Amino acid sequence: MKVLFVVSECAPIAKVGGLGDVASSLPKALKELGVDVSIVLPFYKPIKIKKPILVKRNAKINFFGKEEKFNIWKVHILKKKIPVFLIEHKKYISSGGVYIESDASSGGSLSEAERFLFFSLAALEVANFKKASILHCHDWHVAIIPYLVKTQGLPFKTLLTIHNLAYQGQYPASLINKIFKTNFKGRVNCLELGILNADIINTVSPTYAKEILTKKFGFGLEKVLRKRKKDLYGILNGLDEDIWDPKIDKFIVQNYSWEDLDKKIENKKYLLKKLFYRPDFEKPVISIISRLAMQKGIDLIEKIFSNLLKENIYFIVLGKGHKRYENFFLKMEKRYPKMVKANILFDERLAHQIYAGSDIFLMPSFFEPCGLGQQISMKYGTVVVARAVGGIKDTIKNAKFKIQNSKLIVEGEGFLFEKYNPKEFLKEIKRALKFYQNKEIWQKIQQNGMKKDFSWRKSAKEYLKLYKKLR
Ligand code: ADP
Repeated sequence: MKVLFVVSECAPIAKVGGLGDVASSLPKALKELGVDVSIVLPFYKPIKIKKPILVKRNAKINFFGKEEKFNIWKVHILKKKIPVFLIEHKKYISSGGVYIESDASSGGSLSEAERFLFFSLAALEVANFKKASILHCHDWHVAIIPYLVKTQGLPFKTLLTIHNLAYQGQYPASLINKIFKTNFKGRVNCLELGILNADIINTVSPTYAKEILTKKFGFGLEKVLRKRKKDLYGILNGLDEDIWDPKIDKFIVQNYSWEDLDKKIENKKYLLKKLFYRPDFEKPVISIISRLAMQKGIDLIEKIFSNLLKENIYFIVLGKGHKRYENFFLKMEKRYPKMVKANILFDERLAHQIYAGSDIFLMPSFFEPCGLGQQISMKYGTVVVARAVGGIKDTIKNAKFKIQNSKLIVEGEGFLFEKYNPKEFLKEIKRALKFYQNKEIWQKIQQNGMKKDFSWRKSAKEYLKLYKKLR
């Protein structure tokens, strides 16, 4: 069984969010199960890799009725275990950042569409010469592939994984008709085409797989998804434990585990000294690491911010995205420099240091297909306050404690609120801060999170089952 991942991000080569993590950590776990897996990725301009090998110069596709030539490069990632093919084309692919717009919610501009439609066609060339049997396509960017495979009778089986239903890639039919010589009318929704034509569809958590069948979370595709319900699965994302483990993490100043959790404080000290002048290590550190998009509940943070700062805390944000949110955090940092630090950039090292050095992590998502941020936080003993939605529901249980036979019993590993509402959110943060004051209970909550299994072990086997079904 030869599987080709067709995807727009892949860590560490190109990553914007969780998709990038999954596109490398899942192939690695599949390889350990004996699957022959490789990846095809656009060769974006900012990608810097050492010594890629040119596997094919001047490969050809027909695009807008013209012959276009592109190059296929190859590198290996994850200790040389997984081959990644990179598609290079000056005009359509290699002329801008990973995404052309920072929040391309419907797929973004026409040039974004051209880029990913070109990439999808080029990826089929890679699939041909790799003799792949299964094309594992991710999100709207390459969701046209199952449609092309089905309508052109190409010799592949397709699995479409939906990482985020809000991003669909909707374009004027005229654009698609010109490229593929089709007869669509009105607008074409790339993700919808993928959902209708993929052999199997899955999304990234069991709860989200149910939520997207409803009007509230279906973003207009709930009816189409309901049609495919019997071929729709929910498989929880995992973490690459070689990258996300405080025991061996190379980016943090002090390694630790649930057994020697006291050492975590060294990371807090380092982080606070790095970001604040003469910090007080007793104060709780509250953080967020996220794309700054509506989905992530940033407007709830805005709404509670002045009340939150009445608490004796530090607030750290690491994120990029909507200018409005970026400016809000920068303004808050300027106004409260002793309490707030706004890191408006993408920085992998700093992300590790914040996960390790914080006490509380916020994830008030409006919707959350799976969410890696909360899983990483728990793994690092950083307690999460999050909204009970999507994958968050599948990964966190609310913390509570009782005394039984004069023994303290603490259950759960986080703090969850239900309604998308600033009052509820603030109430839950305050509940967490209260627990924080009791070191014994707090440590148990941290340890409960750290002991959970966030690896790919179970989920990779579920993907393997889907591949076998496809065969
Ligand atoms: P999403 O995929 O919706 O963006 P996830 O929680 O699934 O959200 O995954 C986010 C991933 O991106 C995590 O690995 C997180 O640490 C990382 N991340 C997000 N923003 C930044 C940033 N500004 N710098 C570094 N890492 C980031």
